[in-house]
Amino acid sequence: MKVRTRFAPSPTGYMHAGGIRTALFAWLVARQNKGSFVLRLEDTDKAREVAGSDQHIMDCLRALGIDYDEGPDIGGEFAPYKQSERLGHYQEWAQQLIDSGRAYADPYTSEEVDTFRQEARANKQPFLYRNHRPENPPVWDGTQPLRFKSDPKNYNWHDEVMGDLSTGPEVIDDIILIKSDGYPTYNFAHIIDDAEMEISHIIRGQEFLASTPNYLNLYEALGIARPMLATVPHILGADGNKKLGKRDGAKDMLDYIKEGYMPETLLNFIATMGWNDGTEQEVFSVDELIEKFSLDRVQRSGARFDDRRLQWLSGAHIRSLDIYTLYDALKDYWPKSSHGAPEDYKRKVASLIQERLKYFTEVPVLTEFFFSEPKTEDVRDLFNDQKNKQLKKLTNEEKHAQLAAARKMLQDSDFSLADIDSRLNALLSELDTKPGILFSIIRIAISGSPASPALFDTLAVLGKEKSMDRIKQGLELLG
Ligand code: GLU
Repeated sequence: MKVRTRFAPSPTGYMHAGGIRTALFAWLVARQNKGSFVLRLEDTDKAREVAGSDQHIMDCLRALGIDYDEGPDIGGEFAPYKQSERLGHYQEWAQQLIDSGRAYADPYTSEEVDTFRQEARANKQPFLYRNHRPENPPVWDGTQPLRFKSDPKNYNWHDEVMGDLSTGPEVIDDIILIKSDGYPTYNFAHIIDDAEMEISHIIRGQEFLASTPNYLNLYEALGIARPMLATVPHILGADGNKKLGKRDGAKDMLDYIKEGYMPETLLNFIATMGWNDGTEQEVFSVDELIEKFSLDRVQRSGARFDDRRLQWLSGAHIRSLDIYTLYDALKDYWPKSSHGAPEDYKRKVASLIQERLKYFTEVPVLTEFFFSEPKTEDVRDLFNDQKNKQLKKLTNEEKHAQLAAARKMLQDSDFSLADIDSRLNALLSELDTKPGILFSIIRIAISGSPASPALFDTLAVLGKEKSMDRIKQGLELLG
């Protein structure tokens, strides 16, 4: 069997982690098996459609590196890949069901169906449309919904994620195949498309699990062998209670790319939300994901979206880059002031921030002072910062004295890392002060920032001239 998986989003908005996770799992299964991954746009619910979202979905998949082999914008053997362009296909299959007596025109108005529903509720019975099947349905002319004439029975089936499942006849009903607006329902269209597109695995969200027995019934009536089914549980919000949805701030995945998270990080993050390889490993390259992913290790309960875990993973991926790759990745993120700075200087700066960088839009804040003079008011404010528990105990004269001693100590330094290290450590004992005090004062003077990469490295990269100038400036501000 050739493995062919698909991602079948409806163009109803941007892509958040939940949608991307389904796409990613389907993509991993295809890549792992040297199969094909298909993108199909399910645009049959015109009321819910959001203009521009089909393009957005394709942009998002590309930006993440989830490449598809067939799809609306690239074509393929089973084109078209947009359901609104496949209406003739659904008509044909619908006709086949009508001819075999397995579909009929629904003659009721929606008010009538509502009445049936209310009656069922009053009798404490579940509402089943099939209990109201018309005896002599009209000839279907496309203005009424077309319904499936179901064959209620028990089902036992295997879901690659959820395991062995079974249901009784009570969940089978006469579902709508084609709506009165001429568009097919998801329930019908996906079955036809998956069959025609020779999809081997349907990997999709939990919201379709309850309808699966109806799909199994429909496969039988159509004489279609069903694909493997894999149901991916919801992603829950950080509190672990509610499904992560657009309304609770589930963010557009493209925004993460724009903030400077690497595609590799995002794929790792999303794949390991509710999946692990059975070991403690958390950081995976894309190749490792392709090699190790398996549907039967996807957890059955909802996975939690944890932003802090994303940051942690991102840091881990950034730290694993060699400096040339990191430098390349940062090329669009440097502050304006860095333009014209020599490449090897920028590379050294990149290597200094590598340890603590979480996403690339942090780069300007972390590196600005390597390229432009710290602002006088920032330096002054930080010297007097009352939130700095160590520094606030010192008078300005005392701070001045420590900074002056540092200046003197560094005057004859060759500014190699080792020399800076030994001189400033010697000064600590000489002044009988603490790193939290002496090094903070120097850091503030040279960076105008409460945090910077390791101080000695920062001094060495900035160089003697700039460092000494800034220390002098700092002394004037404290003087
Ligand atoms: N069009 C459905 C949705 O966006 C896709 C379900 C499926 O993957 O089959 O929810």
